[in-house]
Amino acid sequence: MFKTKLALLIGCLSFGVNAAGFEAVTLGSKGGIQDGNLTAFMLKSDQDSNYVLLDAGSVVNGLIVADKEGAFADIKLPTESPYTKVGYLLKEKVKGYFISHAHLDHVAGMIISSPDDSNKPIYALAATNDALMSNYFNWSAWPNFGNEGNGFKLNKYTYNDLAPSQWHAVAETSMQVMAMPLAHSGGQSTAFIVKDSEGDVFAYLGDTGPDAVEKSDALGNVWKTLAPFVKQGQLKGMVIEVSYTNETPDKALFGHLTPNWLIKELTALETLAGKGSLDDLDVVVSHIKYSLKKGEDPQVVIERQLEASNTLGVNFLFPEQGDTLNF
Ligand SMILES: [Zn+2]
Repeated sequence: MFKTKLALLIGCLSFGVNAAGFEAVTLGSKGGIQDGNLTAFMLKSDQDSNYVLLDAGSVVNGLIVADKEGAFADIKLPTESPYTKVGYLLKEKVKGYFISHAHLDHVAGMIISSPDDSNKPIYALAATNDALMSNYFNWSAWPNFGNEGNGFKLNKYTYNDLAPSQWHAVAETSMQVMAMPLAHSGGQSTAFIVKDSEGDVFAYLGDTGPDAVEKSDALGNVWKTLAPFVKQGQLKGMVIEVSYTNETPDKALFGHLTPNWLIKELTALETLAGKGSLDDLDVVVSHIKYSLKKGEDPQVVIERQLEASNTLGVNFLFPEQGDTLNF
């Protein structure tokens, strides 16, 4: 008994020393069309307790579902807080938004919750921030909760334009972030590379097409940036999209990936980082659309197609809304 306890204690201690990494809570898992469950992940480093949101398709609904599932069981609501647990999480624990692009399925939750949100920065490439201020926070689609743009500024959200391929501090967290452009059917999307103070990284890629179809080198540049972290065992995981099954022709991809294209792109990363370097890497597959059709769920097909060609040894994950993942 004592021995077991001692082993447990030692186990916990070593866990504490080596456990640096990241936690992601899935606030929205779908790439459309299910309002209430659209792309959004809450990310934090194990080194502190504050989160950022990786895209914000669903926010309050995602928090409600995740809270019910116990995702925030170890966060105590302070007795003096005037807010519910969900309110406290949104207002006090989410310290900023990383927005990959301004398509509605990536920002609807942030816009809808903005009247009751707390003041925080929006970290994005300049083109994304420009699109947010001109299309949504403009007093036509919605009041201007930003600090720039049309008409009276309510100054709740501070647009923080990230210079591409440079590290930027993320206020009130122990994380830094680097933004890199992605090609999304003629539009621009973003890859966010997040680094903790020990140098471990996590990559979140917004919507993206394959370089060969987009006639772009955007994903190739992301892989070049990530390869050194892969070699050093510091890439803890990534989120990347697969919107369609392999049956979708290239001309109908509209800036998205299939299982075949994801494997091809990950193989490009492996080529840079070394044979076998992606073995056991956690890769979260996002942006699979909710299906209204009878018959086989596209997610089942996508899972099967990815596993069938998974020569890289990657650990593909398909979280549902409310699921917590540790990297
Ligand atoms: Zn999109």
